[in-house]
Amino acid sequence: MHDATMKEQYRLALEAAHEHALRWLDGVDERPIRPDLDVDGILARLERTLPENGESAERVVDELAEASGPGLMAMGSSRFYGFVIGGTLPASLAADWLVSTWDQNTGSRQPTPATAAVEEVAAAWLVDILGLPAGSGVGFVTGATSANLSCLVVARDAVLRRAGYDPAAGLQRAPALAWFAGDAVHTSVLLAGRIAGIGAPTTVGADDQGRIDVDGLARALAAHDGPAVVALQAGDVHSGAFDDFAAAVAVAREHDAWVHVDGAFGLWAAASPRLGHLVRGLADADSWATDAHKTLNVPYDCGVAIVRDEAAMTASLGAHAAYLPAVASISDPYDRVPELSRRARGVPVWAALRSLGRRGVIDLVDGLVDAATALADGFRTLPGLEVLNDVVFTQVCLAAKDDDAGTAALGEWLRDEGTVWASSSTWQGRTVVRFAVSNHATDADDVRRTVDAVARGAAALGIGVR
Ligand SMILES: *Cc1c(COP(=O)(O)O)cnc(C)c1O
Repeated sequence: MHDATMKEQYRLALEAAHEHALRWLDGVDERPIRPDLDVDGILARLERTLPENGESAERVVDELAEASGPGLMAMGSSRFYGFVIGGTLPASLAADWLVSTWDQNTGSRQPTPATAAVEEVAAAWLVDILGLPAGSGVGFVTGATSANLSCLVVARDAVLRRAGYDPAAGLQRAPALAWFAGDAVHTSVLLAGRIAGIGAPTTVGADDQGRIDVDGLARALAAHDGPAVVALQAGDVHSGAFDDFAAAVAVAREHDAWVHVDGAFGLWAAASPRLGHLVRGLADADSWATDAHKTLNVPYDCGVAIVRDEAAMTASLGAHAAYLPAVASISDPYDRVPELSRRARGVPVWAALRSLGRRGVIDLVDGLVDAATALADGFRTLPGLEVLNDVVFTQVCLAAKDDDAGTAALGEWLRDEGTVWASSSTWQGRTVVRFAVSNHATDADDVRRTVDAVARGAAALGIGVR
């Protein structure tokens, strides 16, 4: 029972959280993006022995915010370019708070009609704006890794069934399944393959931007007789490149192979008419993995698994038990994801799409691409630096000319200086500083400040004058 003091505790705790949240959001654009303290530094601020006695909810919230503050990375900053991390749209953040407050376990439809319905609308909107086949099955999972896994499990089962084998009997006696990917396949797809029990893919080559070698794919498929899966990519993490879906799907179809697309951030190119050339043939695949927490800018975590054949999806991921209320003719949310219980993480997706509208999603995606293009143009004006990739989407790989050590030092200088945060990586044998433009708020002023920071870093390190 929630008596008056319990209600008061909720109120005080939520008011404290609200206050800390607003303070965080107010400061996120002007503080250094990097944290001031590392993990050990924060551990030193936390009580390490489990306290014997509890504390009021409000004090707990204050203690958490105060201890954590110096260890928080301003990932929501419009000049955070690390990994591929979206920011948070106001509507999706606020909706996420409600999701936690309502605490609906949105596994089955019947007990949680509101969140189930909102998620159904979000799923239909997603399929619509991404130009995918209407009626596709949609599962809201933790991220693209889980979406890749979900889709690969469905793919595995579907091609085994087509080969006359019942996957419910386990994989031990299944016909030899082969799966193929380009050399630039994302590590999460490899992980998904391991968990799905199909091991590592046969890699068939890639061009200098990471696009799958379609001739290599054709040769590999021709050499294999049996069930096959092809994993394509929309958006390479270094170059942003997109596979030639039309050509690859055509080749795969000749061999009755399932085509899956990892489009964690790049699938969103399909929302923009301007970027249609990147995604030709994309909608002809069988399954797609994407993230809402990257390009769409909903808070962590939310990935989306989409499968053209909804029945194949529920055949692989569906669950049944006497105590789980099911409507015979309609699949439940838990039939399209690898778990039973989960938060209603499709609700912030609904809120993001509702607040943006179709026009706003197009502007969001185009805005990210415009900012990445402007960053690359700015970097190219700086002496001693070069942009290594063809900037077709949101990714920019920056390097000091003939100077891998200089590039590495520049990455460290930038992260430490704090105006921007970008990841260091290696790509095509070169050390790079990789800028992934993923925040809805990144604008021309951020681009200017970013190019200025890179210019200051290069000058401080003597890049371009050596
Ligand atoms: C981020 C990413 C993933 C993994 O997504 P998570 O949301 O981190 O699980 C997979 N593929 C690509 C291309 C990515 O950029």
